[in-house]
Amino acid sequence: MHIDPSDIALCIADEVAPGRPGDSVPTSVPIVQTSLFSFPDFGALLDAFTSESSHHVYSRGQNPTVEELERKVARLERGEAAKAFASGMAAISAVFLGLLEQGDHILFLNHIYGPTLQLARHLRRFGIEHDVCLDPDPAAIEAALRPETRLIWMESPGTMLFRSLDLAAVAELARARGITTGIDNSWATPLLQKPLPLGIDISMHTCTKYLGGHSDLVAGVVVSDRERMERIFYRAYLLNGGILPPFDAWLLLRGMRTLPTRLRQHEADALAIARWLQAHPAVRAVHHPALGPDRDLAERQMTGYSGTFAFELAPGDFGSVQAVIDALRVFRIGVSWGGVESLVISPMRPDNARSLEAKGIPSGLIRLSVGLEGAEVLIDDLASALANAS
Ligand SMILES: *Cc1c(COP(=O)(O)O)cnc(C)c1O
Repeated sequence: MHIDPSDIALCIADEVAPGRPGDSVPTSVPIVQTSLFSFPDFGALLDAFTSESSHHVYSRGQNPTVEELERKVARLERGEAAKAFASGMAAISAVFLGLLEQGDHILFLNHIYGPTLQLARHLRRFGIEHDVCLDPDPAAIEAALRPETRLIWMESPGTMLFRSLDLAAVAELARARGITTGIDNSWATPLLQKPLPLGIDISMHTCTKYLGGHSDLVAGVVVSDRERMERIFYRAYLLNGGILPPFDAWLLLRGMRTLPTRLRQHEADALAIARWLQAHPAVRAVHHPALGPDRDLAERQMTGYSGTFAFELAPGDFGSVQAVIDALRVFRIGVSWGGVESLVISPMRPDNARSLEAKGIPSGLIRLSVGLEGAEVLIDDLASALANAS
């Protein structure tokens, strides 16, 4: 894993202005727990109203604690501006609602987080259509474009199977046609993959996962150029009202101080567990970006790996999956990923094998989010849970 040293410094240190010139400053940014900001005179308030995206008027707009988080994530992504949201879904909603018009089409690439696709289905009510293209080949992507395609939204590594897309190739193909590109970059975090320098227009994160890292908050963030962020700010963020409260922004800043160190441990332990699973007779396949068919691309595009991946149980029926999950003692059963505690879940339900197959998801799939308990303990846990499965 390589993490840019300047990124580590950014994660650790808050930039706090002194109260008076020459004053000492706190190491942690103050939590500015206020709904509004008052002005020295009415004219100053009216001036601030002309650009609420760059003035403190009301905390549904800008708040200093939240701005410190946005400054950090924008710099980590090498983007011009960022906006934080109440959740990852609030961030994705704001991108779609802020940038799209009736009649537009979204092309989704790779396996996409389920609720993102559910949101796209709701957007049909407003005349916005979409398609999903699972084939990463640029020719297949081109063939899936429509004259109305305005946005290509992707995940790389993708949800559930962690397949990678060639981000520079997608960006080039889209730019040539004036199509905006956006990526849900949550898996890699801004420390391990920087889509904007590769030509992608928008990078988005659910901060609920690795950025927060402690499973104690829900948050999202979007990074892009100033012009796009202004459109997202005025046409969606400010009016939808899905703000990140100052205390949650502060918790997130605290979580991010250990992000570089956590990622090193997540990568090492997840790889150790993935390799161990590859050799297990009850396991048909392991889906980890470093071990799959597109590992060369993953290696080239990312500077390391986080700790969430999946494996396929050889007996792929629901009962076997359920038995293995229920036999785990250290991995907790739950949604989400990216926290300090290890988690397990499966997309399988008693009756959905067909519909999963239609989405390209193999039966028997189990997803692990490897936390920080240590690879040895987690391998022991998996060994006893798998003992009866082969
Ligand atoms: C969890 C998740 C989201 C949604 O984030 P929330 O903070 O839960 O709203 C978006 N994308 C991916 C890939 C996720 O795993």
